[in-house]
Amino acid sequence: MPLVLAAGDPSSSGMTPPVAASPSTDPRAAFLRRESAVRGYCRGFPAIFATAQGSRVRDETGREWIDFLCGAGSLNYGHNPPRVIAALTDYLASGGILHGLDLHTVAKRRFLEIFERVILAPRGMEHRVQFTNPTGTNAVEAAFKLARKITGRAGIHAFTNGYHGMTLGALAATGNKYNRAGAGVALGGATFLPFDGYFGANLDTIAMIRKLWEDPSSGVDLPAAVVVETVQGEGGINVASWAWLKSLAALCREHQVLLIVDDIQIGNGRSGTFFSYETAGIDPDLIVVSKSIGGCGLPLALVLIKPVHDRWKPAEHNGTFRGNQLAFVAAAAALEQHWSDRAGFEAAIAQRSQRLRGRLEAIAAAHPDRGFSVRGRGLMQGLVSADPERAARISAVAYDRGLIIERAGPHDEVVKAMPPLTIAFDDLDAGCSILAESVAAAG
Ligand code: PLP
Repeated sequence: MPLVLAAGDPSSSGMTPPVAASPSTDPRAAFLRRESAVRGYCRGFPAIFATAQGSRVRDETGREWIDFLCGAGSLNYGHNPPRVIAALTDYLASGGILHGLDLHTVAKRRFLEIFERVILAPRGMEHRVQFTNPTGTNAVEAAFKLARKITGRAGIHAFTNGYHGMTLGALAATGNKYNRAGAGVALGGATFLPFDGYFGANLDTIAMIRKLWEDPSSGVDLPAAVVVETVQGEGGINVASWAWLKSLAALCREHQVLLIVDDIQIGNGRSGTFFSYETAGIDPDLIVVSKSIGGCGLPLALVLIKPVHDRWKPAEHNGTFRGNQLAFVAAAAALEQHWSDRAGFEAAIAQRSQRLRGRLEAIAAAHPDRGFSVRGRGLMQGLVSADPERAARISAVAYDRGLIIERAGPHDEVVKAMPPLTIAFDDLDAGCSILAESVAAAG
């Protein structure tokens, strides 16, 4: 998430004392006065959002944007998907339980039954489902703990440019220096390995990892687990090849190192299949899932655990908000609607992905002097700018022209297009046209 400062934001340095409370006509006054300087997205996209439908969001004045940010991957089915909202409305009207710790509830049972029927069983997955506290980083922490417990080893091996969350364990496995510096303590327990292509296309990073693991004098201990994003979202839309993922999985198996796939952002269909690794034909030990599993942006996080690895003791990993009942209802409705016809939905995502990719490549080709390139998989595609300042201008101009699109990458140099999987072609085209105009206008 890039740190974009909006003009007139008094705490843009993070060091300015809070502005004293005073009557103000600035509709943002309450935010500027009271919200912590840690706020981020709202600096680049400072509207006061009020309503949304599908791929469009509106602010309180009625101004509209096409949304290619998509709740950072939490809104794969768009804003307020009608069937999900209907299921939630019915549930609320019925007096359905809203908080249930990890008690058995009707909402949780329905979620598990549908998840099993449309996702796990068709993919031959026996995995158990652990409900963690509700945000992605909670699931990552749980997966790391479980891997350590299973193997008796302490280390986690993560990848350059990886992003796994902001709590201390997950942050230790996150590459970004700016985020890491926020920890305030030494971040331990994780070692970074080079991701696919990190040293260029000709260096086989799996061979490097093998050497590090097998050389008794490398100084690198075998880890409990390797955690990987098949496409690194925050790290700049870096795509691991299927062959690289297969080799990584085989290497982990050979050394009895657990493989954790972090599908929090690239999962839930964003890559083109429900789990992002499906085409690679690998079989991860643990999978962390969050963001869009909540159906319409509601918080829910899961660790999927192979039965042989389900070594938790009762309540050993605890939490008050394990399983948000409304998110169960929303998730069940969204999964049933979209994934019951797996082939049909995958085909619909593929058509949109091809359209998006083609439009981005056309933008890059229209400006041969600017050194753009395009990379991504499925409906997470990036326009990579050699000049990060240019990427910042593109995002800002796009916002002014009616498109919300963020940046990613070590220098925030990648303009990251992440529309809903369900976006209508007209909106996809309209968003891409705004982007094309913005690139031209951004100079
Ligand atoms: N893992 C990945 C791949 C992510 O993209 C994110 C968030 O962007 C997280 C973990 C952390 O999720 P959360 O922000 O919900 O804690």
